[in-house]
Amino acid sequence: MSQAVITAAANLARKLAELGINNNKVLDVVSKTPRQHFIDMALAHKAFENTALPIGSGQTLSQPYIVAKMTELVLANSPKNVLEIGTGSGYQTAILAQLVDQVCTVERIKSLQVQARQKLKWLDLHNISFKYGDGWKGWSNRSPFDAILVTAAARSVPESLVHQLADGGQMIIPVGEDIQQLMRITRRGDQISSEIIEPVKFVPLVDGDLE
Ligand code: SAH
Repeated sequence: MSQAVITAAANLARKLAELGINNNKVLDVVSKTPRQHFIDMALAHKAFENTALPIGSGQTLSQPYIVAKMTELVLANSPKNVLEIGTGSGYQTAILAQLVDQVCTVERIKSLQVQARQKLKWLDLHNISFKYGDGWKGWSNRSPFDAILVTAAARSVPESLVHQLADGGQMIIPVGEDIQQLMRITRRGDQISSEIIEPVKFVPLVDGDLE
């Protein structure tokens, strides 16, 4: 990374800390991960701004604050294996892969999946399994997962994902349509509890056919 990028990355980490992210491992990984490689080159100068950016196919990479917040929430129960729904650019996948043992990630748009896979390989991240499929269904033969992170907004909590949580596992998921809330769904034995974390704005978790 050039000196300018290192400075921008350090400034972003400071900004995220001010916004309430206090897990230092998360701040460290956000400042080391080259977000500019996950977006259009023409927008590279905005990579370390705290702003959401387009990634093609009408999809969006969330602002770094929300990526950091969701990652911090995911790490709360020290997960070893994490399922991510919505690979998109692969940026959130890259952050997770540096913090947990194994990441399984599902995407329904083939072109995004292909590009994400290349970028993550190029970053030397090899603890990631990719699935081209419908995230509403999760990845049952790789379950149970200690944590599930959904990076698109579901109109309701997908039942099949709840079933793929390990005992003590948790799912972080934006829920809603026009008004969305980030929610934490926790499984303890057969007990499922849910809490609202904060309002968010995500692209929808799409139903039906793959693209
Ligand atoms: N985590 C991504 C965010 C991408 S935006 C990143 O860091 O870039 C949300 C992604 O969810 C999009 O790529 C979209 O295609 C995908 N998505 C939406 N509905 C889906 C579904 N039903 N199954 C799998 N992926 C889905």
